[in-house]
Amino acid sequence: MKYFVLNRGDETSLKLSHKFHKLANQYNMILDEKSPDIAVSIGGDGTMLYAFHKFVQNLDHISFVGIHTGHLGFYADWKPNEIEQLLSLMVEKGNSEQIIVEYPIVQLEIKTIKDTRIYYALNEITIKGIHATLVAQLDINDDQFEMFRGDGICISTPSGSTAYNKGLGGGIIHPALPSIQITEIASINNRVFRTLGSPIILPKHHHCDIYPKAKQKILLSVDHLQFEHDDIISIRSSVSHKKVRFARYRPFPFWNRVKDAFVGNESN
Ligand code: NAP
Repeated sequence: MKYFVLNRGDETSLKLSHKFHKLANQYNMILDEKSPDIAVSIGGDGTMLYAFHKFVQNLDHISFVGIHTGHLGFYADWKPNEIEQLLSLMVEKGNSEQIIVEYPIVQLEIKTIKDTRIYYALNEITIKGIHATLVAQLDINDDQFEMFRGDGICISTPSGSTAYNKGLGGGIIHPALPSIQITEIASINNRVFRTLGSPIILPKHHHCDIYPKAKQKILLSVDHLQFEHDDIISIRSSVSHKKVRFARYRPFPFWNRVKDAFVGNESN
């Protein structure tokens, strides 16, 4: 099995990363930065975002697994003291017996006056104005839906629904539902600019186009990555045909993660 490890860079994650390499070496696993079968993220959910983007071109054949060195993560579900167990399961199950769960991701197509670019997001994309509020027309399935004015728009994946989307009042979506969720970031509502005000969930095969007012300076985020533009014509978001694959060596249901992260175990 070919593997690669990314870590958050803090002392605990670095130590754990060394330990992982040592154990992997004992199991004759092959370190491969270009085309690993499995990418191991050691840190938090933010580290998994880096891992996803490092291997975004390999999504068809790579799977991810996360060890958390802080609080419980949504993408990182192994504890540091379980590293031996994880490695022996990785070796025992190999590539053929691994249980893989696939989560939907957002596909983004950005048309500028120069070119068209495709990006993929594991959590979400956001579109914000840099010097002023964002002014943009939002279309759903090629029909004008609303004129937006405000801080910005967030479009999240189901697994990203527990991240920025949640802070914006979006709903939590189970990753088994191939969908994208559109949430507003502080919209201004008056007679000219009127938006729905509620999060919108689009199914697979629907798409949403955002047409920012010409020459606006836009800050576009794709997970932790940020890009500045003043030449965007349109931004199309949809559920990608590609998916991200996570290797699961034991069950850890999504709703349990949600409960552990946000509700806790108090039963009063
Ligand atoms: P960061 O500011 O270092 O991390 C933001 C926080 O979001 C971290 O605590 C991270 O968990 C957590 N997180 C990431 N993905 C998550 C998920 N799917 N479910 C629940 N929590 C999640 O920023 P970063 O490391 O560059 O990560 C970028 C992410 O930050 C974006 O994708 C966005 O979702 C999130 N963000 C959130 C807000 C907000 O809620 N108001 C605002 C901006 C950005 P770990 O500590 O485990 O890494």
